[in-house]
Amino acid sequence: MEPVPLAALFVAAIAVSLAVAWVCWQRRDGNSAATCLTLVMVGIALWSAADVVLLLDVGAGLRRASQPVAFLGAGAVVIGLWCLPRALADPSWRPSGRLRAALVVEPLTITVLTVLPATWPWIYGGTDLSAPAGQVELVVGPLFLAHAAYSYLMVLSALGLLVWRLRSSTTLARRQTGVLLLSVLPPFVGNAALTGLMADQGTVDLTPVLFVLTGVVAGYALLRMGLLRLVPVARSHAVDTMTDAVVVSDPAGRVLDLNPAARALLRRVRPTSTVDPLGATLAQVAGPDLATLLQSVAGRSGGRPTELLPGLWCDVRTTPVTDGRGRLLGRVSVLRDVSEERARHLAVEALNARLLAQLEVIERLQEELAEEAVRDHLTGLHNRRHLDRVLATMLLPDGAGSPVALLALDVDHFKAVNDRFGHAAGDQVLRGIAGALGRVTRPGDTVARLGGEEFVLVLPGADPAQAAARAESVRQGCAAVVHRIDGGSVQVTVSVGVAVRTGDEGPGELLAAADAALYVAKAEGRDRVVLGDGGRSGGDAPVEVLGASTPS
Ligand code: GH3
Ligand code: MG
Ligand code: MG
Repeated sequence: MEPVPLAALFVAAIAVSLAVAWVCWQRRDGNSAATCLTLVMVGIALWSAADVVLLLDVGAGLRRASQPVAFLGAGAVVIGLWCLPRALADPSWRPSGRLRAALVVEPLTITVLTVLPATWPWIYGGTDLSAPAGQVELVVGPLFLAHAAYSYLMVLSALGLLVWRLRSSTTLARRQTGVLLLSVLPPFVGNAALTGLMADQGTVDLTPVLFVLTGVVAGYALLRMGLLRLVPVARSHAVDTMTDAVVVSDPAGRVLDLNPAARALLRRVRPTSTVDPLGATLAQVAGPDLATLLQSVAGRSGGRPTELLPGLWCDVRTTPVTDGRGRLLGRVSVLRDVSEERARHLAVEALNARLLAQLEVIERLQEELAEEAVRDHLTGLHNRRHLDRVLATMLLPDGAGSPVALLALDVDHFKAVNDRFGHAAGDQVLRGIAGALGRVTRPGDTVARLGGEEFVLVLPGADPAQAAARAESVRQGCAAVVHRIDGGSVQVTVSVGVAVRTGDEGPGELLAAADAALYVAKAEGRDRVVLGDGGRSGGDAPVEVLGASTPS
């Protein structure tokens, strides 16, 4: 090809590579791959510029001066390509200072050796730099070949990494990587051919022009395929940025790896520890208890919330890692801070407990209210309402069950007590009678105050004879009470009417029968017990007088 069109090709290469470099440079933020591509593109531009100089009629001096620039450019391309797969795997990847220094050693050395007249012959020994335009043929020496071998090794290792990434990445990343790989291959193969050619007969190095293809395809991938925007985040990167603590330990309990969240957690748990977790035992870095927990594999149900520090609750999940044959290689423990959930849970539990306690109080109050509703306020005995319920359940209409006796009791001449000692004294006498009734009743009996100075006793299971006997002891018990009241004491007597259920009498009938007997007792002179006939006679039946005494 004529020198001028060839030079134009190189100039086009410079323009394209600079354009792509510019686009990549714009996108370098948080994206190392963009910086790598920028470096590659700038390198191509430098390399191409040096080749243009070689093609033009500019004199041997300038041509000689262009060659170190070509090596600088080629060095930038190699470094950029070497770093690119690493940056693609992890956008936050940066070469360390030591790695940077190592990477620039070879390019700088070859550049300096090109500048030095003493070593120039080892690079382009037989080259005639004063040949007419377009006829300069680079003749390469051993140093150049060594440099070429180094560069191939570097680029080959980068290609290897790209291929590995192609196999192990997701579909999207695979497409991107594939495109990038294809774009790097032509200049690589082309350069190999050219270097062979140059070693053979000498020619202009066309590699930078081929690299323009890389630039164009990479630029396409960049702009149209979102190559650098969608660089997949490597798994290690994800683990590092996780808020959950991740600890990897070997079967012996030695820490193999841990993420920053795990380091922070361990610092919280053991603030005074100076041990570097990596390589130390779990017991050393986490204490014996947590170490045991981290080494015990959770069941299928998963993590167990554990209080590592007062108020610091962690959900700990440990999963074993095994090889193909099921042998334990190590364990991965994930610790999630669940303190907030735990605090909420405890608050809910406390609230529940409070509500339960309140519910108990309410239930007790309700019971008390229910009890109060069936109690007589003055004496504390049951009231009419309760009596009705008892009788209704006890005196079923079918007449089933054992006999039931009913005692109707009325204080004799009670009005006179009120009149003589006052209403309050009368109340006290009523309470005294209630006390006497309480003392003579047995479990299962019911004592109720119907109102005024009238009481009813229900004695389940008592036949007429037993009922009469108990009524008599009730009468005597009441009469025996000496009621202490303001300004002295008083004793009262009571009259008792007894009715015993013998058939299927209902509550009304039985109460009426007892009342009838009581009426008789009053009529007979009071302070006595009268046994009715169970209500069969409607109150007019003959009655038996069991006892009598003089009223007080
Ligand atoms: P009897 O021997 O015929 O039964 O004569 P009594 O005076 O006991 O009967 P009466 O029915 O004439 O009088 C009952 C009195 O009881 C009238 C009423 O003022 C009084 N009384 C009713 N309820 C109460 C009460 O709760 N407290 C007091 N202190 N007196 C009451
Ligand atoms: Mg009365
Ligand atoms: Mg009375």
